[in-house]
Amino acid sequence: MSRTLILDCNDKIGEEVTISGWVQVRRDHGKIGFLDVEDRTGIIQVFCTADKLGDIRVQDVVEITGKIAERPEKLINPNLETGKIELQSETVTVLSKAAELPFDMGMKTLDLQLPTLLDFRALTLRHSEVRNIFKIQSAILEGFRKVSKELDCVEIVVPEIAIGSTEGGAEVFKVDYYGHQATMTQSPQLYKQMLVPVFERVFTVAHAYRAEPSVTTRHLSVATQMDCEFGFVAFEELLDLFEKVGTETLKHVENECPKELKKFGFKPVAFGKIPRLTLREAQEIIFKEFGRDNRNEKDLNPQDEIDICKWALEKHGSDLVTITHFPTVKRAFYTMPDPENPEYSLSYDLLFRGLEILSGSQRINDYDQLVEAIKSRGMKPEEFELYLQAFKYGMPPEGGFSFGLERMTMNLLQLQNIRQASLFPRDMERVDIRLSTLKK
Ligand code: ATP
Ligand code: MG
Repeated sequence: MSRTLILDCNDKIGEEVTISGWVQVRRDHGKIGFLDVEDRTGIIQVFCTADKLGDIRVQDVVEITGKIAERPEKLINPNLETGKIELQSETVTVLSKAAELPFDMGMKTLDLQLPTLLDFRALTLRHSEVRNIFKIQSAILEGFRKVSKELDCVEIVVPEIAIGSTEGGAEVFKVDYYGHQATMTQSPQLYKQMLVPVFERVFTVAHAYRAEPSVTTRHLSVATQMDCEFGFVAFEELLDLFEKVGTETLKHVENECPKELKKFGFKPVAFGKIPRLTLREAQEIIFKEFGRDNRNEKDLNPQDEIDICKWALEKHGSDLVTITHFPTVKRAFYTMPDPENPEYSLSYDLLFRGLEILSGSQRINDYDQLVEAIKSRGMKPEEFELYLQAFKYGMPPEGGFSFGLERMTMNLLQLQNIRQASLFPRDMERVDIRLSTLKK
């Protein structure tokens, strides 16, 4: 008998069906018992006599044939999509047996400490609460791709091994490349820029490798960036573009994942007109409204990001806020200084619910200016030979931006730690397993 998906059982009352999936819960009541079985569409309660239950345990993969029956009125479960029915089992086959579980997977919320959640990642990802995070993350990716394509961007795939560091700085992972020293790219930045003279508009989803020797709740050693880069654009247009991409992506998720979002007690995103502030304006507001004087700092600190988002929500009904004009020295070499005041740059961050989720800028597109910028940062133009080629032979005014996928996921769902928003997070202490458990 061919498989019926669990959610489709709602239309099969009185019919015989075969379902397959994982046992999530087993409840014994003497001579009878129940299994909650889950597949990719939902969960169904299965009535079994004790002989059929045997030694079945949670996470066993089962195939069950039986009849779909309506539940009596008082046994209806309004919280379950199949709450009006149950499957009365006739044959129960175990397709694959699970080992004894290290913890209870049958709980509604998986109440585990983060290290355990990650030590048993292949298992904990199966729990609906954890799985939902990644269903939502998939919708973020889909939304980003959709709006980027609508903006006429071509999707590109860029290399992740390079010779020399991507953007300068020491925070790179080094790899032995056939005896040569190579690095893992800190971002897709240089490659997406090189593709502007090819396609004018590009987007990519790429890994960013950052050997940041710090442990925070918002940094991973390997993050996923969603990047766009546009030719023939000016600063104001870039602001319009990333605000559009960010807004449309979030709206896509709200439309695609209402069920999953509800389970997180999700508060709809406030899409008021996004306020645009220069860094100095933002710091002025933080000083006036929150009494912290950071007006000479070169960046916002984590508390500043929280406060300015609070302000944006209260005053503008927006969960997003754009910050522009960071000091030129604080941004990467390719960032265009503001011609009106070169101490500051044509750069921007987008903050969402208290955290930076995007950075970007208008880029230097003049070859000589770019060579000078590289030299002024103490780097060698020779190390950027291929990159500079793109500028030598005609690069239009251009700019772009980069969203952090895990940051977006984390903040949308208000997760405590960015590691919860990465399927297989890498940090100073972990690459799948805890590094401390490896023999040196
Ligand atoms: P931050 O200042 O918050 O450390 P950044 O300015 O170094 O971040 P960018 O180079 O601007 O990061 O990267 C673009 C986006 O990628 C960031 O806005 C953020 O959303 C995400 N991102 C950057 N670094 C990380 C990281 N280590 N872990 C997770 N996400 C990151
Ligand atoms: Mg940044």
